[in-house]
Formats: sequence, structure tokens, C-alpha cells
Amino acid sequence: MTGLMTGKRGLIMGLANDRSLAWGIAKQLHEQGAELAFSYQGEALQKRVAPLAADLGSDFLIDCDVSDMAALDAAFETLKARWPTIDFVVHAIGFSDKNELRGLYVDTSLDNFLLTMNISAYSFVAVAQRARAMMPEGGSLLTLTYYGAEKVIPHYNVMGVAKAALETSVKYLAMDLGPGKIRVNAISAGPIKTLAASGIGDFRYIMKWNEYNSPLRRNVTIEDVGGAGLYLLSDLSAGVTGEIHHVDAGYNVIGMKAEDAPDI
Ligand code: NAD
Repeated sequence: MTGLMTGKRGLIMGLANDRSLAWGIAKQLHEQGAELAFSYQGEALQKRVAPLAADLGSDFLIDCDVSDMAALDAAFETLKARWPTIDFVVHAIGFSDKNELRGLYVDTSLDNFLLTMNISAYSFVAVAQRARAMMPEGGSLLTLTYYGAEKVIPHYNVMGVAKAALETSVKYLAMDLGPGKIRVNAISAGPIKTLAASGIGDFRYIMKWNEYNSPLRRNVTIEDVGGAGLYLLSDLSAGVTGEIHHVDAGYNVIGMKAEDAPDI
């Protein structure tokens, strides 16, 4: 099976290193023939992103802090100058003050609530506004979410609230952009050890819990996420939009601790 993405090009936002969920998706898109551009946040990340992009045959790198609307405008102008149209965008971006990803949600500050909502939820809307103009024949937008949007996960706190807003945004955007043949979906990934995840209190415990209790009795990998990303960004999922697709070894369907799960 090759060439699912031949002739398609798009923007990957949120690649930090080779453990990023964005990397798992980008690799599979490249294997299937997609042309990729990458946006990164700030000079420091450029050094990490450039060699990874080069591995996937891309020298198209764009600096973009998604909390800055002028930076987003400039990024899409840069994209448009080289590629007048695109077929997909991957939004793999989230941020919150890690001091509030421990302890209680009730202690969330206004400043960090707004910051987390802005970077982790609104930025997807802001990206959709700009990407839409570059998708005259339609396209596919994909974001990344987590089960902490649906149920309480200790320490996920304000990020869970932002992911709930993100998931609902996926549904409203799907409705708004559907007439223009633009599909909007999210992958709800199980816990994976990445830079962003390391900011979440007791993350190792969350991973162990998922491994012992999910139907597949394992954690998922960025390759698992990449396969689902390929499906949602390719024409294989032409009839799918507004979907929150779980890639979590089935964890979201369980109602109680597995009988064979050890105590942790
Ligand atoms: P990561 O650290 O590799 O990626 C997070 C990215 O967000 C980084 O590239 C970072 O530069 C970018 N970012 C943060 N603030 C930004 C800003 N203002 N402007 C532009 N970029 C900014 O971690 P990851 O786990 O691959 O995270 C990607 C997405 O996947 C996030 O939305 C995360 O919430 C989601 N997710 C992760 C997991 C997990 O367990 N790792 C599970 C479900 C969902």
C-alpha cells in the first residue's frame, strides 16, 4: 500500500523532536507520498526540527507561535507564497503552565486558564480560518486530544477543560467547513511519553494504569497515532468528519479496573 498521499501537500504544526505525536504522523504521510511543510515555535526548536524535516525530504520550515495572530498570518502568507493551495494541516499543539498540571483544578489561575485555552484550543480555530482559504477544492484538518477532556484524569486539570473546548470546536468546525469539502477530525491518543507529557504530574502512573487496564493491555505508540493520522488525512476517510477518533488501545471503553491488573 503506497501512494495514498501522492499529490497532496500540507502543514505539520507541533513537531518538537522524534518522540512528538506530529513526528509519528509526518513519517507515515511522507511514506505515502505527501509533501510536507513544518511550523515550529521559536529559534531553539528550529535546530531540532530542521534535520527531522530533511529526513522527510522537506526544507520548508516556518517559525510560528500560534498564540500570536500576526505570526499565524505571516506563517500562512509564507506557506501560500510557495504553495498556493494545501490539502491538509496537522495541529499537534498544546500548552499549559506545568505548575497547574499537578494539584487541584479548583486552583487554576485566570491567566493560565486563558493561556491554556488560547494555545491548546483557540489556536486550532485560528489555524482553520487561515487554512480554509488555501483549500478551494476541500481538505482535511486534524488535531490531537486526550481522554482527560471526557473524564477526570488526575492532574490533567485545565488542560482537560481546554481539550473539551478543542473537541467541541472540531464538531462546530466540521459543520462550518463541511460545505467547502473540508473535513475536521481529532485523534484522542492514549498517553505517550513526549516533551509536553512530561509536564503532567504523575504521568508515569497514568501510563502504567493505561497499560494494565486497556483492552489491548499496552500503551499506544506514535506509529499507532501515525496510522490513524494517515487514515484521517487521506481519502480513505472521505466520509468522516467531526469525529473524535480514539487511538488509546481501547482504554475509553472500560468501566472498571481489569481483573488481572496489578496494583500500582
Ligand atoms: P510535544 O512536546 O512533542 O509537542 C507539543 C508541541 O506544541 C511542541 O512542538 C511545542 O513547540 C508546541 N507548542 C506549544 N506552544 C506553542 C505555541 N504557542 N506555538 C506553537 N507551538 C507551540 O508533545 P506531544 O505529546 O506530541 O503533543 C502534541 C499534541 O498531542 C498536543 O496537543 C498534546 O496535548 C496531544 N496529546 C498528547 C498525548 C501524550 O500522551 N503525549 C496524548 C493525547 C494528546
